[in-house]
Amino acid sequence: MNSDSVSEEEKAGMHRLEAHDPSTLAKPQDLMQYEMTIASASDLLARINPDHPEMSRIPKYVGQILRNSLTLITPTLDPIGVATDPLACSANHSCEPNASVLFDAPKLTMRSLAPIKKGEEVFISYVDNTDPFYRRQALLRLRYRFECKCSKCQLGIDGRENAWAKPLENLAPKWASLARDMDSTENYSAGPENYLGESKAEVDMSILQGSVYHDYEPIRQQKDNNLAIEALEKIMRTCKQSEMWPITRQPYANVRVDIASRMLDQNRVALALFQMAKTYFLIDPILYPQDFHPVRVVHTWNLAKTLVQAYSSPNDPSQTVDPGVEQLFQRGFDFVVPVWKLLKKLSVDVVKSHGARSRLTFMVHTLTEQVKDGIGMQNLVQIERDPLGMWREFEKWAHYLE
Ligand SMILES: [Zn+2]
Repeated sequence: MNSDSVSEEEKAGMHRLEAHDPSTLAKPQDLMQYEMTIASASDLLARINPDHPEMSRIPKYVGQILRNSLTLITPTLDPIGVATDPLACSANHSCEPNASVLFDAPKLTMRSLAPIKKGEEVFISYVDNTDPFYRRQALLRLRYRFECKCSKCQLGIDGRENAWAKPLENLAPKWASLARDMDSTENYSAGPENYLGESKAEVDMSILQGSVYHDYEPIRQQKDNNLAIEALEKIMRTCKQSEMWPITRQPYANVRVDIASRMLDQNRVALALFQMAKTYFLIDPILYPQDFHPVRVVHTWNLAKTLVQAYSSPNDPSQTVDPGVEQLFQRGFDFVVPVWKLLKKLSVDVVKSHGARSRLTFMVHTLTEQVKDGIGMQNLVQIERDPLGMWREFEKWAHYLE
C-alpha cells in the first residue's frame, strides 16, 4: 500500500465508498476471514512502515472492499469481481470447474455445473476458462501465483480451446510479414500468455494473437460506441481474414458478444441479432457444453429480450424501427416463434443456472408470462407446431454474417 502510487482522486473515491458492516457477517468463519484479512493487510503495511498513517484505517478499507465487491455485480454476470469474498476465496481453481460463482446482489451464490458428490471438492474458475492454455497459465501465475494442473491443463495445447483453423505453417505470407512488421515495433510475442512455440510459424502467430488481445483488452473501457465497434471490427477482420481463428477460439468468440451488445446500443438491432444467433447456435454449445451454463443462459436471455424488442418495435411509438428488422418483417419472418421457443427453454435452464429465487429467474419468468398472455392459448399450439418453419429460418441467421 504505497500511498504515492494512489492518486488523490482515487483516495477520495475510496473514502466515499460505503463500508461493509462486520455485524452483518452472520457466520463465525466469515467474521474470522474478515479479521484475518485485516490482520494480514496490517502486517503487510507494518513491514513498510510500522507507524504508517493509514494503519488505523485498514479495517475500514477491508470493509469497503468486501462491501463493494458484492454490490458491483449484476445477475447477468457483468462485471465479475470475485476475489475478496470469503466464500469465493474458499474454493480452489480449475479450468474445468464443477461450480460457478454468481452474484445476485447483495447475495453471492455458488451453483454447480456438474453433479458434485458428497465430500468431492468444489472448484470454480478464477479466469476465463475458454481462453487458450498458455494464456490461462500465465494469468493464473501472474494473479494467483500458482501453476494450474487441472484436467484441462493436463491436456496442454491439445485442449480444444488451443485449436487453430489451419496448421500454423499455412498462415498466408501477407499475414506473416504483417506479424514481422508488428514485432519490430511492439513486443507481442514476448509475453508468456501469447506463447505458442519456437518455430517461425509459431512466433508469427503468437505476434498476431498478441496484437488481437492487446487491441481487445482496452475496449471494455471505451465509452464511445462508434470507436468501440470500429476497434472490435478490426479484431474480427484479423481473425476472419487471416483464416486462422475458428469462430470458437478466443478472443474471437468474446469479441462477437461485445460487438452485438454495442450494436444494440446504437439500435442496429438486426445486425446484433445475427451475431447473437451465431453465438447461440454455433459457438456457445461448444464453449459451454451445459445448456444451463450461466454464461450461455445470460447470452440466451439477451437474445430473447432483443427478439421481443424487435417483434414489438413496429407497435411501439417510442421506438425507431431498425431498417434491418423492417426487412425481416417484410420477408414474412414471424418473431414470435423463436421468442416463445427460447423463453420456454430458458425458463427451465435459468432455474438451474441462477437458482429459483434469483432476480434473473424472476425476470425470465415475468417476460415469459407476458409473452404467453400476448399470444393466447390457442395460438400457442400453432406456434409450437411452427408449420411455416420459422425456427429453421431463425437458425439460418447464424450464417448471415462472418
Ligand atoms: Zn487449469
